[in-house]
Amino acid sequence: MIKLRKKNFVSFKKSFDSICASGKSPTVINSLAGQRNEIEARVLKYLNNRRALENVFPAALSPDISVELKSCYDGMPSDLKFQLELSHKYFLRGLHVCPYCLISEADTKDHYLPKEDFPEFSFLSYNLIPCCANCNRRKGRQFLKDGRRLFFNPYFDSVPGRILDVELSLARETVSFHLVEKDSLLASHVEKLNIIERYNDKGAGVLSEIIYLLNDYPSMRDEEEFVNHMDVEYNKSKSRYGINHYTSLIYEKLLLSGLVGQVLQDP
Ligand SMILES: [Zn+2]
Repeated sequence: MIKLRKKNFVSFKKSFDSICASGKSPTVINSLAGQRNEIEARVLKYLNNRRALENVFPAALSPDISVELKSCYDGMPSDLKFQLELSHKYFLRGLHVCPYCLISEADTKDHYLPKEDFPEFSFLSYNLIPCCANCNRRKGRQFLKDGRRLFFNPYFDSVPGRILDVELSLARETVSFHLVEKDSLLASHVEKLNIIERYNDKGAGVLSEIIYLLNDYPSMRDEEEFVNHMDVEYNKSKSRYGINHYTSLIYEKLLLSGLVGQVLQDP
């Protein structure tokens, strides 16, 4: 859950022209070209509502056109694919992880508005979000419930601040994350993508590494030394992934709770 600061979208015009210049059959190309104005108007609607995409409803497209539009994503021309890859690399610069969960590599693309319901946006740069396979699979075709969006959009939404907190036990080597933000968008995002459970798993690994350091590196038995080390790691994680990343939350809790001091006094 982090907003991607760098923006480098591939324009509708570039995408559409690339598709029309591809090796699709003349019948399909003619049919798509005939829809161009309508699709462009839909893209404009998308952009005008980019921070409130719940206001964009599926269009009444004929089944044939829907199939053709969806096929534009599946059989995307290689130059457009390359442009999209390049733009995703640019978005993710310095991040290296899925912006939905901040856990795994962003090696797939999610259609924020699902392509089954919005085939006209299936090849649109604004609607393609680099994400990990786990988040992509969990999100699937979901988008709205009772007229409200279910997922955070890393291009257009901002994280309102702290949304998660963690409880730690060094003695039991356990971490337990929970939501503190009642904002329904972030809460449903975390719930639908199973982020609490995934953070508990990843966080347990981070804590176990910290305990290993405390036990096996004599220099770390000096509290000041250890707190300095925690501080560096905390700031590194916070500046790269934000305050809601599992690593930032664990280091912050250790720094603020005095837990490390207790452990060092009780070898
Ligand atoms: Zn993910």
